Amino acid sequence: MRRKGLAIMAVYTADRTDSPYATAFGPAAALSCRECGTRFPLSPIFACQECFGPLEVAYDLPTGDPEALRRQIEAGPASIWRYAPLLPVPADVATKRNLHPGWTKLVKADNLARELGITGGLHVKDDSGNPTHSFKDRVVAIALEAARTFGLTTLSCSSTGNLAGAVGAAAARAGFRSCVFIPHDLEQAKVVMAAVYGGELVAIEGGYDDVNRFCSELIGDPVGEGWGFVNVNLRPYYGEGSKTLAYEIAEQLGWRLPDNLVIPIASGSQLTKIDKGLQELIKLGLVEDKPYKIFGAQAEGCSPVSAAFKAGHDVVRPVKPDTIAKSLAIGNPADGPYVLDIARRTGGAVEDVTDAEIVDAITLLARTEGIFAETAGGVTVGVLRKLVESGQLDPAGETVVLNTGDGLKTLNAVEATARPTATIRPTLAAFREAGLA
Ligand SMILES: *Cc1c(COP(=O)(O)O)cnc(C)c1O
Ligand SMILES: [Zn+2]
Repeated sequence: MRRKGLAIMAVYTADRTDSPYATAFGPAAALSCRECGTRFPLSPIFACQECFGPLEVAYDLPTGDPEALRRQIEAGPASIWRYAPLLPVPADVATKRNLHPGWTKLVKADNLARELGITGGLHVKDDSGNPTHSFKDRVVAIALEAARTFGLTTLSCSSTGNLAGAVGAAAARAGFRSCVFIPHDLEQAKVVMAAVYGGELVAIEGGYDDVNRFCSELIGDPVGEGWGFVNVNLRPYYGEGSKTLAYEIAEQLGWRLPDNLVIPIASGSQLTKIDKGLQELIKLGLVEDKPYKIFGAQAEGCSPVSAAFKAGHDVVRPVKPDTIAKSLAIGNPADGPYVLDIARRTGGAVEDVTDAEIVDAITLLARTEGIFAETAGGVTVGVLRKLVESGQLDPAGETVVLNTGDGLKTLNAVEATARPTATIRPTLAAFREAGLA
């Protein structure tokens, strides 16, 4: 057996007290298969040995007084580590060298609500405020701690852009070697951000799905020994980082759940783990048990999940992406079927918008709320508008829409329209002549 994960598998036991990592993962008890429920010890593996289903982290969550847990969380750091009791991390994680992401702003978006005809209250969860300006810092922070525990020395990923920068930065800060893989045709800002932290950056001649396939091969090869691919062999841990979006939204609303959430879909991991986080909050008694609807958002040029939702299918047929929303351009989304389940179970939907609608939505959000979103934020805001207009989302409900990235990374999307109003000589006469007085 040449793979580290498989070697650990040999000591399989369902009892966490037998795990060599018992305390390093806090309340996490095991990995469990989403398909067949088989449990495996916490280790750098991602697929079930019985059925090849995806593995996720299973917990012994704290029981007892929800009020005490709320107080403990509220007294914690202004980062995702305030939720350490609910994450697969050691209790002292806040003292470790990482980027301390999260606790981003939940912006009350009254102007945007008015434009869209939303009367029940609208908030933008603005994750552009993270250390590398996208939501990816959340997921990388958890995967990084797992890599540390497993003694992996190279941090890696297959990326649509934002993840490469997040891994590069986290590795630099934590003292890991990094080697990240991206499609060759990414936005310049994402390439620069992936490279600037000093790790290795490999551009692959192909799209994201080719990059991902290549990385899976690399993990299976002796070359990949000691490598932690945050979104492949560390994927079960990586995914848990997205739960913190659910926790923060609920806490920032005053420990309440919204009625509607509009979430972007790339692989679908974020959406499924936000749902997992909301379910945990209910189970723990941290919020009142009430229904909520989850809406998924895609770009029309990469809308395999939306297409399956509309057709009533349970399986997602892969597509070849062609959209300006490159951060969401995954043609074969691993968690697509689970996204369909969640949208249907909660009474939500999956919708998509064209590139032109994405650009419109970016400028709408900027103009109404002073938030400059990347194309993924254009997708969610554009989809929100479409859902209201088509009657799929009740405007009288309280709604949270996610902005997961920073507009400075996707300037090309708006550079044709976001131009100087006039270019003039520095005189009052010229100002008047330009019709601006
Ligand atoms: C990665 C990413 C997402 C969501 O990705 P999933 O694979 O669905 O978890 C959303 N927005 C941005 C900007 C991203 O980079
Ligand atoms: Zn299984």
